[in-house]
Amino acid sequence: MATLGTPRIGPRRELKTALESYWSGKSDESALLEAAAGLRAANWARQKSLGVTVIPSNDFTFYDHVLDTSVMVGAIPDIYGWKSGPVPLATYFAMARGAQGGNDDAACAHGHQGDGHAHGAPAQEMTKWFDTNYHYMVPEFTSGQRFQLSSLKAIDEYREAKALGYQTRPVLLGPVTYLKLGKSKDANLDPLSLLPDLLPVYIDVLKRLAAEGAEWVQIDEPCLVLDLDDATRKVLRAAYEQLADALPKLKVMLTTYFGGLGDNLDAALSLPVTGLHIDLARAPDQLEAVAAKAPHDLILSLGVIDGRNIWRANLPALLDRLEPVVSERGADRVQIAPSCSLLHVPIDVSLETDLDAELKSWLAFSVQKMGELATLGEALAKGRASVADALKASADAAAARKASPKVHDAKVEGRIAAVTSDMARRKSAFAERAKLQRERFGLPPFPTTTIGSFPQTAEVRKARSAHAKGTLSDTDYEKFLQEETARTIRWQEDIGLDVLVHGEFERNDMVQYFGEQLSGFAFTRHGWVQSYGSRCVRPPVLFGDVSRPRPMTVGWWKYAQSLTAKPMKGMLTGPVTILNWSFVRDDVPRSLACRQIALAIRDEVSDLEQAGATMIQIDEAALREGLPLRRSEWKTYLDWAVECFRLCASGVADATQIHTHMCYSEFNDIIDAIASMDADVISIETSRSKMELLDAFKTYKYPNEIGPGVYDIHSPRVPAVDEMTGLLKLARERLSDRQIWINPDCGLKTRKWEEVRPALVNMVEAAKLMR
Ligand code: GLN
Ligand code: ZN
Repeated sequence: MATLGTPRIGPRRELKTALESYWSGKSDESALLEAAAGLRAANWARQKSLGVTVIPSNDFTFYDHVLDTSVMVGAIPDIYGWKSGPVPLATYFAMARGAQGGNDDAACAHGHQGDGHAHGAPAQEMTKWFDTNYHYMVPEFTSGQRFQLSSLKAIDEYREAKALGYQTRPVLLGPVTYLKLGKSKDANLDPLSLLPDLLPVYIDVLKRLAAEGAEWVQIDEPCLVLDLDDATRKVLRAAYEQLADALPKLKVMLTTYFGGLGDNLDAALSLPVTGLHIDLARAPDQLEAVAAKAPHDLILSLGVIDGRNIWRANLPALLDRLEPVVSERGADRVQIAPSCSLLHVPIDVSLETDLDAELKSWLAFSVQKMGELATLGEALAKGRASVADALKASADAAAARKASPKVHDAKVEGRIAAVTSDMARRKSAFAERAKLQRERFGLPPFPTTTIGSFPQTAEVRKARSAHAKGTLSDTDYEKFLQEETARTIRWQEDIGLDVLVHGEFERNDMVQYFGEQLSGFAFTRHGWVQSYGSRCVRPPVLFGDVSRPRPMTVGWWKYAQSLTAKPMKGMLTGPVTILNWSFVRDDVPRSLACRQIALAIRDEVSDLEQAGATMIQIDEAALREGLPLRRSEWKTYLDWAVECFRLCASGVADATQIHTHMCYSEFNDIIDAIASMDADVISIETSRSKMELLDAFKTYKYPNEIGPGVYDIHSPRVPAVDEMTGLLKLARERLSDRQIWINPDCGLKTRKWEEVRPALVNMVEAAKLMR
């Protein structure tokens, strides 16, 4: 029973507390180091007591394991001022957060970090770790890149565990995946070509680990579940042959996760390693193919416990699949494990004292998953009878969940069955709608608007937490929010914005706010998962059929619209984004869960329209990030994702204007899908790409209206008028004037009013100049 990695943050987010206290200067380095050592020790002890027999080390990190790898191999860009020798903690955090620190504030409205172009050295770029919501620091390579061993963290943590009595299996990010995740500063440099220089550092680390007594190491090569070309497969082969030559006795467990090996199966099986881990949660079907083809002496690590989701496993059902493999290969040739690191699930469901007891009995977080592994291990070693009670409890929970009326709502299932393709189509084509809308709104050319949220000040957060604690009454909280909203609306009118928003002060988070009001969703108190560095999120748990018992935003919209004669946008989060930022059911396809959410949002859209809303924005910030890792699966995903958006957006009259917003800047490869969403207006992030991403829209001849962001909300900097007109001129080279709206890149909730006020005044001024 192995784990491949565990959450680093601690059951009460102790790491966050320690880091933030250190960053703010409230505590010193030794306090931070001590807190980290305490977390590691507790983590090892927890695993051991739960019956995990193969326990990892070096799965801990202060910030990010990819950054740790860059620091291990000395891939540290010059701007951080490091030359050689052990990398100081200050350099490490400069790479993570920028030299001035504080970069964690520079995030977009859903916590995506900016590139911190403050003064001093900016943080390294950050991006999503495969298809998870964990973000890693992108390694950066230049031509003439040198590598040198510059951190002994892997060895130190192995020794630390050993001193505490644990023989661990140290974890390293594999050299090929590491290079593939990096980006080259130099167009002619293929990061993979750096392998010959990189490998000696890996060999050095592995030799040191072996010298300390490590028998096994775990090397992660999740790139093996991606589309790879032959050149990459060759590089993989060369890398592992060289490692095996240099370290003939060290046993390597090569891990793959987040998908099936597919057409890389032969490549994976040809590598000279002792063991291969495969993900059987994402790709259960690969078991037979892998087992049939794997050389008999290869140890297979079967990732049967879902490391990406929070559902309790059906252990007897898993045993039905495992037992034949074990009896065929022999118990010493099979390990069982979670599908991937447990980093992506919360730590302990037993902390959830407020959760519905029945729902709770269906859940397994990291701690519970380790317990499940131990039970599976016992059953495989000593027979099912040895753990009969635990197996029965597992099967009972699975059966109860399957049959529960909490999960199944016949009304919802009936509505889904009655969906017709007409429901996902606006009545008329865009050109006709646009005519009606233009007449109705009479907006000036280059209309101005914002994306939705206004600063979530300390005051707003204080009021929200006081209300949550019960020290601020419902009435007083409501009054506070109304005043905040009214002030924001007045201010927007004063500076002359054309289309207004209410500011989203009542929302904690753009997904949670809706999840809390929809049936079928539940929320945890301590279910934190690391997003990046010290930032954690608590994803909603989508456990059952989704419906909307009552309007969710209509009251706020009405109030807001009553204060102004200008159009007030209704503001919703789209179904794909709600789905992608939640833990979702594993008993129905994602597409079906998404369609249910779409119907619920459709109800809200229709109620808003009925209440008088003429413009409704449906944010799909996370549509792109839901793209499958394999290109061959993109179309299926995009088809249902776009269909769900259309389903929620198409129940309105032609004269009702549907907006959508997407805060990222890569559209080239999904422009067809974006166009088929058929939103009347789309706002996107463009300011940092100098409008280049509009090329995709231009080439496509995208017909609908677009608001390319002219104000980078990731930075505290206030853009000047001529900067914005400069960007708008670039936009005009790619779009026709009648298409262009003027707005910031994203919501303003992470910014301060002192920054937002002058920036939006300048934005309105820029619009006037354009006209
Ligand atoms: N309407 C949301 C806001 O402004 C959109 C946030 C987002 O796309 N991340 O906060
Ligand atoms: Zn956004």
